[in-house]
Amino acid sequence: MFQGPLNESLLKKAQSKGLLSLKVTNLRDFTTDKHKTADDTPYGGGAGMVMKVEPIAKAISKVKSQKSKVISLCPTGKLLTQEKIKSLAKEEHLVLLCGHYEGIDERVRGLVDEEVSIGDYVLTGGEIPAMVLVDAVARHIPGVVKEEESVKKDSFYEGLLDYPSYTKPEEFEGRKVPEVLLSGHHAEIDRWRRKEALRRTLFRRPDLLAGAELNAEDRKLLQEIIAEPE
Ligand code: SAM
Repeated sequence: MFQGPLNESLLKKAQSKGLLSLKVTNLRDFTTDKHKTADDTPYGGGAGMVMKVEPIAKAISKVKSQKSKVISLCPTGKLLTQEKIKSLAKEEHLVLLCGHYEGIDERVRGLVDEEVSIGDYVLTGGEIPAMVLVDAVARHIPGVVKEEESVKKDSFYEGLLDYPSYTKPEEFEGRKVPEVLLSGHHAEIDRWRRKEALRRTLFRRPDLLAGAELNAEDRKLLQEIIAEPE
């Protein structure tokens, strides 16, 4: 599962430049029976299979060092945010544990530093959540994204959604690129972009505004937006 997404585009370049190193460990290699059984039926009965604790414990102790942070991907974990991604990007070594089936034996919790969810929905396995985390973290490793400024302007970086972007043509099916973006007036363009980022956040994700760092100019722009006719 990891081969495709982790070996394309920016992640591929990051690895070949030595900025990022990824290694996949197969939990079945840490089983003891000839069928390489990594799961079993749940105590107490019920549907589905549960991943066994022993192969996971062995695998973690094999790949982990003192500098590792061990993260279990699970829907019951703490919701992954850009803030969290930025702090994970400063870690030297992440061990990402991917669950499957009904989930993982609860006793694995004692072996991990954190439990992280990528959203309030359930996927079939932890591989895609792990890849989401790797991809998002990689963007914050210096040199992975060519223009670091573009990471700083991304949605959530400063607690706001990103501003709208346009490219050629100037007009598409009667819809024109905003005049100010064609003006070449950089201060005006910056002001427009900031205002549109604030507008989007206000109308689409007002919950983010409470945590965003807003200055006096931002508050003025928000007043303008609120005063504008709908
Ligand atoms: N029974 C579990 C529950 O309801 O919380 C769901 C298990 S899910 C089918 C199997 C595995 O997928 C989990 O152990 C976890 O590794 C991964 N997974 C599913 N949804 C996830 C999410 N939103 N965030 C992170 N990992 C997730």
